[in-house]
Formats: sequence, structure tokens, C-alpha cells
Amino acid sequence: MQYISTRGSRIGSYRDVLVEGLAPDGGLAVPGELPRLDGALLESWRPLGYAELATAVIGLFATDIDPDDLARLCRAAYRPSAYASEEIVPLRGLGDGLTLVGLSEGPTLAFKDMAMQFLGEALDFVLSESGEVLNILGATSGDTGSAAEHALHGRERLAVFMLSPRDRMSAFQRAQMYSLLDDNVHNIVVDGVFDDCQTLVKRLAEDVAFKRAHRLGAVNSINFGRISAQIAYYVWAWLRATDAVPEAGRAGFEVSFAVPSGNFGNILSGHYARSMGLPVRSLVLAVNENNVLDEFFRTGYYRPRTAAATHTTSSPSMDVSRASNLERFVFDLLGRSPERTAAAWAALAADGELDLSAEQHRFLPEFGFVSGTSTHADRLATIRDVQARTGVTVDPHTADGLLIARQHVEPGVPMLVLETAKPQKFAETITEALGHAPTPDAATRALLDAPQRMTELPDDEGRLRALIAELALR
Ligand SMILES: *Cc1c(COP(=O)(O)O)cnc(C)c1O
Repeated sequence: MQYISTRGSRIGSYRDVLVEGLAPDGGLAVPGELPRLDGALLESWRPLGYAELATAVIGLFATDIDPDDLARLCRAAYRPSAYASEEIVPLRGLGDGLTLVGLSEGPTLAFKDMAMQFLGEALDFVLSESGEVLNILGATSGDTGSAAEHALHGRERLAVFMLSPRDRMSAFQRAQMYSLLDDNVHNIVVDGVFDDCQTLVKRLAEDVAFKRAHRLGAVNSINFGRISAQIAYYVWAWLRATDAVPEAGRAGFEVSFAVPSGNFGNILSGHYARSMGLPVRSLVLAVNENNVLDEFFRTGYYRPRTAAATHTTSSPSMDVSRASNLERFVFDLLGRSPERTAAAWAALAADGELDLSAEQHRFLPEFGFVSGTSTHADRLATIRDVQARTGVTVDPHTADGLLIARQHVEPGVPMLVLETAKPQKFAETITEALGHAPTPDAATRALLDAPQRMTELPDDEGRLRALIAELALR
């Protein structure tokens, strides 16, 4: 499988896209051709456990990794000891046609573990074969940073420099990151907000000479390795949702997915699964008050907002106003034409908005996309309501997904809602909704009490450069 940029240039093989997210022409890496899933192939996968299924699905994309090596990487990434559930991704019926897909059973209690655990194994493998090292530089407002650190800590060929804003994350999120004491984990607490952290990372990443000298890389949401690993759980969820369907009716049996969205990474994997032939009726995109993507799917106008115009909400991992993966969907929408995609992004850069209203009528019939926006009050009401009806406590992001999912349930079509985080991570909002915090288990209490280590830094590019120059692996 060869990868190309959405703006036309050739990129290389899967190993190449694992290490480098952005193409030299500014576009994003996409497979030259999407693999196909048919009914017989899906049925042959039904008996597989999660790690085996991930091997089969990722193997369609990672054709330059030996299948035995890939199987080993997937067994390590999806080892039962790292997940709260033996099945890795359990499904749980909530009634009224809704099912929760448990993507947050991993080490940091958010769905980002599903991709990051695999990426950690895969990067380590590729680097050990090539004899290289890589220093991962990133900025986080919570879930991404901890998922990355928990996937990379203790590895010899990888180090991670993760910038986080002072006083902006929950106590739980801080503990998850800062309690990692491995030598290769550098938590850098910046005296500023998330945006300041991201600006610092961007400046260094744009300095090609510095990047090369210190072997800097990224594991952000545009990394195609992450996108490919996420496709596996859409297939898994479809298989488990159709286990009880009589055999004669399984082929083509449609389900819908509801996805709490920010950078459009999670739902993009759903779009690929559907395009490959997985029987998916609708992809229900849920956003919070930062509703740029809802506007796009309703009108065809994409109007990204500045950081200053981005609301701080109670589903903070969805506080995104520029969806970094959207270009991959637009590429498909425009007939996989690099010329049209490049022209669209040039227009976006010039005008600050992208007008695809002439294509909007195709979003639902051809691509299955519908969307909706939720608010803080919706989130609280949904958390309360689900708790009262089913005894399940959902986190604020999953609540956004559930609210919009309910608006799109169709008779006879299971609605699978992706659980993107566990409620313990967002105790304040749960307390606001239910009047009490989620009961902390022993692991949570131990985590909150564990010693923490971090380096405090002013919002100063020179100081960050000096720190990396001193501590980076070489
Ligand atoms: C990252 C994240 C999201 C958004 O996912 P995208 O892939 O960026 O669309 C939603 N919920 C939670 C809890 C997250 O951590």
C-alpha cells in the first residue's frame, strides 16, 4: 500500500506515514486506494479476539510490516492486563436502540489509548529496525498527552516532551501525566493556556533544521497510524452488534455510529470503515458549543474559528475550532482530486472559510453524515437521565454523543455510541450533574496520591529549545 498526499505528492509506505504526519506539500497522508471489506471477509473475522482483529484490519494498511511482527505489536498494544475489560472493547446496551461502545477501558481511560497504544508499539518497532531514535514533541489540554505518555514511557528509542498549560487540567488528568517518573517522559508545564503551548510546538516544528538536529516527531491526531488503528474498533463494534443477528441476515446488516468529535479523527476512521464496505447507515457527528463541524455538515460552509473564539466547555477534549483531519474527508468528497483539494485549502487560507455548499446535498445520501450540537445544560441533563434509566454514569463527551444519537435513532438500526472517556476523568462536571462525584476506586485514589514530577517553564521559545537540546535522545 502506497500513501499519497491529499494535495498530490507521493509520500511512501505505512512506515513513512507512522513517523511523519504532514506531507511536504502541506496536505495529509491518505492511502493510494482504500482496501475493501466484503461480507465473507467480515464473517471470517467474527471468531477473532480484539488483538487478532486489529492485526487483520491494520494489516490492510500496513502492508510493509510482516504479518507476524504486526500480530506481535497488536498483542502488546491490546493486552488484557492494560484494559479494564477482558474483551478490550465491551458493548453495553442502554435500551431504546442505543448501545455504548467501551473505548475507554485502557490505561488513561479515554479512547485515545486505542490508537496510541498501537502507535507506541509500532514506532518502537520501526525505530529499532532502522536503528534510529525519535523525540515526540506535543501540546495537550488533557487526553492526548496522557495517552501518548502512557504509550511511550520506558521505551529506549523514544522520548516525549509534552507541554501542558498550568492550572487548566483536572486533578485526575494532571496526576495521570505527572505521576509518570520515567527518564524518557518530560512533562513541561507552561505558564500560559493550551494555545500558548500549541504555538510553541508549532514554532519548533516549523524549524526544519532544529527538528532534524534533535530528531523531533509528533503523534498528533492527523497521524495515519492512529486513524488506521481506530478503524479496527468500528469493525469490532459491528461484529459484536451483529453476533445475535441470525446468520442469513448478517451480510449488509446496518448499524449507525454516534461520535463525540473535535479534530475529526475518530469519526474519520468511521468514514473509512464505511467507505471500505462496513455496513454503516449513519455517522452521527456530535459537537459541543464549538460547533464548526455541525455548521459544516448542515450547510457545507466550513468556517474555522480562532483560538480566542473557541469556548472553554465542560467537554474540553472537543473544544476544537479547526478540525485538523477534515481535509481527508473533503478529499474524498471532491472525488479524491488533489487539484480540487489544494484549490479548496488555498481558498480557505485566502477567505478564512470554505464554501462547499454545492456539495452539501451529498453528505447524507453518499457519506451517511448527520450532525448536531450539544450544550452544557444538555450534557448535565443527559448524564442525569442515563444514570437514572440505566445506572450507567457517562462522561461529558460521551453525553454529547448520546444526546445527538437519540435524535437520529431509526427503527431496526442499532445506534452505537462511542464512549470516548470515563467519568472519573471529569469529576467536577459529574458532581454538577449528579450531586456527587463518581465513586473513586482504589486505582483512582492511588493515582491521585502518587508523587508527581514536572518542569515548569515560562512561555518562552528560547527556554524550550534549550531544554530539548539538553534532554533529547540522540
Ligand atoms: C479527543 C477526544 C474527542 C475528540 O476526538 P477527535 O478524534 O478529535 O474528533 C472526544 N472525546 C474525548 C474524551 C477525547 O479525548
